[in-house]
Amino acid sequence: MLYSDAHLHSNPISGLGAEKIGKKMRETGAWFACLVSLPPYHYGLGLSVDDYRRSIDMLVSEAEKLREAGLKVRVLAGFHPAEIDEHMRHGRSPEEILDLAEKVFKIIVEKFKEGVIDGIGEVGRQHYSTAPSRIVLSELIMIRAFEIARDHDMIVHLHLEQGGYTTVKSIERLVDLVRLREDAVFLHHVTYNEAVYAEKTNMNYTVPAKYRSLKKVFNSNLSRLLIESDFIDDPKRPGVSSYPWDIPRRTTRLIEEGIIDEAQANKVFIDNIVKAYRIEPP
Ligand SMILES: [Zn+2]
Ligand SMILES: [Zn+2]
Repeated sequence: MLYSDAHLHSNPISGLGAEKIGKKMRETGAWFACLVSLPPYHYGLGLSVDDYRRSIDMLVSEAEKLREAGLKVRVLAGFHPAEIDEHMRHGRSPEEILDLAEKVFKIIVEKFKEGVIDGIGEVGRQHYSTAPSRIVLSELIMIRAFEIARDHDMIVHLHLEQGGYTTVKSIERLVDLVRLREDAVFLHHVTYNEAVYAEKTNMNYTVPAKYRSLKKVFNSNLSRLLIESDFIDDPKRPGVSSYPWDIPRRTTRLIEEGIIDEAQANKVFIDNIVKAYRIEPP
């Protein structure tokens, strides 16, 4: 069985790194991965524009290692909502944070034009409790990401609260107002509750590969289902997300249990990926 991972991270400083991840993914049948940046401080860097530039360079070289392992890859760099809180904790003002985000987006566009990055991710809204104004600030940055994605025909991965209808509807409205094509948008780390509403839009969505949610979404007639590990490659936080190779393991279990068949798996792991990421099939 061939599988893909619609959203994962790698950390060459404190985790396995893309070389080991790519090798193990290939051994377990992966053909595609969408690699998404981690905040610079996860790579042992600071919070300046230069640190962002260095972290994006690391991301690009990590993506290259996945390619060398034999995977097809999409690469995204962004400004995660958790980074907004991190900057606030370091005493930055909202204006300074917006200005920094603008500079980071500039680097991303530069790298996009060089052909080494495919889009923006993650941006979005905090999924945890924080000051309401910080959520608004995150949203301002997300809207700016939409404009940039529209102007350059990029894809965007969104990290959001899991608010079912409200989450999906609010994003759809913003995307439409900005006139970004809906299919450029990926709602990442969604549950069944968001997936059902996302199906009614042209936006993509990715569901974490936990056994129980896989079982539920695979059986729900979702025509554009994508599966992600959201692996964060942080040995200090095992269990926060899945490993990429949990995807084939859990899917095989579902096939063996007779809950899904191989054709369903192929549609999700090949056809849907090809369409959503506008990429050549394996
Ligand atoms: Zn996320
Ligand atoms: Zn992620």
